[in-house]
Amino acid sequence: MLSRECKECGEKLSAGISSCPTCGTPVARFSLGTWIIFLIIVPMFIYGYFMD
Ligand SMILES: [Zn+2]
Repeated sequence: MLSRECKECGEKLSAGISSCPTCGTPVARFSLGTWIIFLIIVPMFIYGYFMD
């Protein structure tokens, strides 16, 4: 589930790299962890806003 593939050449990409080692295509940096943090922080801001 955590493995990624290059959208251009299909090369398997290891975690933490910013571009494909084969073709050089930039890799999206949004990992699962990034989304988890995002989904936690955003509701906290919304909650804080409405609670004043
Ligand atoms: Zn590639």
